[in-house]
This record gives sequence, C-alpha cells and structure tokens, in this order.
Amino acid sequence: MSVVHRKGWCPGALRPMESGDGLIVRLRIMGGALSPDLARAIAACAKDYGNGLIDLSGRANLQLRGVTRATLPALQARLDALGLLDIDPNAEAIRNILASPLTGIDPSAVLDIGSGIRVLDERLRNDTRLHRLSPKFLFLIDDGGCFPMPSGSADIAFLARAGQPAFFFEIRLAGKRAGSCAVDDLSETAARLAHAFLKLRGADETIRRIADLTARIGTDAIAQAAGLTDMPNAAEDSCNVAPRVLGAHALGAHTVLGLGIPFGRLDAQALHTLADAAETVEGELRLSPWRAIFLVANQIHPDLAGRMHDAGFILDEEAPIRSIAACSGKPACLHGATASQADAARLAPLARKLAASGIALHVSACAKGCAHPRPAPVTLIGRDRGYDLVLDAGAGDQPLLRGLDMPVVERLLQKFVTTPPIERATLAHQFCVEAQI
Ligand code: SF4
Repeated sequence: MSVVHRKGWCPGALRPMESGDGLIVRLRIMGGALSPDLARAIAACAKDYGNGLIDLSGRANLQLRGVTRATLPALQARLDALGLLDIDPNAEAIRNILASPLTGIDPSAVLDIGSGIRVLDERLRNDTRLHRLSPKFLFLIDDGGCFPMPSGSADIAFLARAGQPAFFFEIRLAGKRAGSCAVDDLSETAARLAHAFLKLRGADETIRRIADLTARIGTDAIAQAAGLTDMPNAAEDSCNVAPRVLGAHALGAHTVLGLGIPFGRLDAQALHTLADAAETVEGELRLSPWRAIFLVANQIHPDLAGRMHDAGFILDEEAPIRSIAACSGKPACLHGATASQADAARLAPLARKLAASGIALHVSACAKGCAHPRPAPVTLIGRDRGYDLVLDAGAGDQPLLRGLDMPVVERLLQKFVTTPPIERATLAHQFCVEAQI
C-alpha cells in the first residue's frame, strides 16, 4: 500500500500528514453518513492505531490523530475492510465534496441530493484528468434545506432551487453566481467547470483555487469555457454564517439532535458513545461542517439529550465555547506556537460577550488560521512570544498589537466586552500605553 508522509499535505488515509502528535489520517465519509457500526469501527481505529483523538474538520471529514508509521499499515488494512480506503492516493486527495448532512431527511429540502453526491464522487475517483486539482479544491452541494451550507468556502457550489417547470442547481464559483444546470447534469457540469479551471490556469500551479483564477480573469470566463449558457450577473452572494444546529429539531418523520463537539475534537470514547446512542434509537449519525454531529432517528427521547450533555456534547448554541474557533495548536500541530485550544477554553467565558452571534473570538496558533479562515471580531495569533491581536480581520492580516501574554490578553478582552467594536482599536492602544506593554 502506498505510504507517503508529507508535511503541509492535505492528509488522506493513503497519504497521511505528519503533525506534532504523529500522522493525521483523514477519512472522507461520502455524504457524512455513519451507521452505529461504522462509527464504532472508526472509534476502534482511533484507539488501536492512533492516540485516540479524532478531529471533525470544517469539511465534515474525520481525522484520526497520532497514527504512527508502525501502526499505519494495519490501520489502512482495517479501513480497506470497512470500505474507507481509496485505490489511488490521487483520487483520494481530490474527493472533496461537502454536502448538506441531512439530505434525504430534511423535508424542507428542495430535493434529495444523495444520488448527486454518489455520482460526483464516482466521477472524481475515475476521471484521472481531474486528479491534477489541488487537494484543497472543494465541491459543495446544498439541498436547499433548513441548514444552509457554507457555499462561499467552496470552489464550485451547487445549490438546489425550486424552479418552473423543474428543480435545478444554481452554480456558484468561489461564492459568485455563475449559472445553473439541470439536476441530472450536476456531475457532468462539475467536471466541465473543473476541466475549464485546469485549462485556463495552464501551467501556473500557484493558481490552486477557483478564487485565484476568478481574481485574474473573472467568473464569466470560466463559466463560458465550461459551456454554461445561463449566466446571471456574477454578484457576490455566498453563505458563510453557521446556522443554529444544536439541540433537538423535528424534521418531518425524523427527530434530529445536533450535538456540538468542543473545537471539533472528540476522542474514541466519545465517538463510541455517539454510536451507542444512535443504536439505542435505531438511528444513524451525520457529520456536519459546523463542529457538530447530528444524531438522526424516528424518535429521540428527551432523556437522551440530557445523557449526551452529561457525556460532554454541547446542546446549546449559546454555550460560550461555540463562539470561539481554535485550531489544534501546540503540541498537536508542528506549526503551532501556542496551546490554542487550552488558551481558548480559558477565554471562553469572555468570548460570547464580544459579539452577539457567530464566531466572536478566533485563537490561532499560527498565522495560517486553519480553524476559521475568515475575519472574526477578535483574532489572536500565536507567536513564540505570546499572541498578536487582530480586530475585525483574519489570522493572516496585519496585527494591531504584538506579543501579548495570556494575562494581558484576558485583561484586554475584559475591557473589550464593555467597549463598542468601533472603539476597540483605540482602547487597545490606550491599554498598551497605560500597561507599558
Ligand atoms: S493554524 Fe493551527 S492547525 Fe493550522 S497550521 Fe497553524 S498551528 Fe497548525
């Protein structure tokens, strides 16, 4: 079996990535659906071949951490037996499809996209010319249901729409409207757009994402090259606001329990607990990109929600920890300068007070900003000498203040809580002068 470890690579099961706590093995679960047995088997893999930690990524993948070179072959054999191993690492790397996790269950959805996911997945595996796409290249399919997907983060997004006389997909390229296609043409259209992208970027492999190309030649040029005929004006219109997914939802004949995972990290025991809960209610699990896993069943007794809360899952969207994004950080990530998750947990009581909704505070252990690649009201960037601070921008932006230690960060955030966002930059400068930082 192929075994290649490369720092900075997007990890797969065939091509894991080195990290601070061993190899990361990413599992791309088609459609994000996990039966209790499969969830239990993955939990066992995490425990037997890794360090027991599992990350739920922003693309709804599961990442097993702490795998070693010694345990990797046995892990791969087990994943193969579970049907979770690709034949080819190049195909594995580009099978990046993020889709509405409750498709087939959500009665408010425009259509069931299950078959569209399968057909596109098959196309990505088999069309070897597409294997030149970057492993970061993301396809997204939104069924138009009650939890809108983060379409702005995708290179090519298909959003189900109810039209006359038939349903169709609206297509967005890097968040901008680019046209539409018939429901049955999803896979073919996705492939044509991806081929057009590869052709138009030519030999310039620094152009890895659609946004890199649209910045140079515009959205229409790609749409035309792919043969899209219907091109409404390419207005910016993307969804990046996380919906409120936690707690119980009645969706037609189903009850869905949205269970938040602190910082998207759980351990093998927690996944085992989820599997057991799903089995108890004769249901299944669905992975979401919102640091949450859905437990889906015909009926879920309210007692179960209480038990899941006691087991460490978050059921309240207002829980302070939901307002913080934090990456793996030190020591799990080789690039991490700070223990971002531990620091974020310490700052959690302050975070929710910094903004009324969404991510209020982003604690990133380096400037890459993996956990929240977007602006946040307050962003802390780990450095060898403490944290740099950025306001209303992203981790890669110019810091306002540099080298703050945690006690100083806490004092400053306490002041931010009672200060309107527009005045925080001035306050931060005054604070530093007064504190002689
Ligand atoms: S942002 Fe965090 S997880 Fe991403 S590379 Fe930097 S330290 Fe690692």
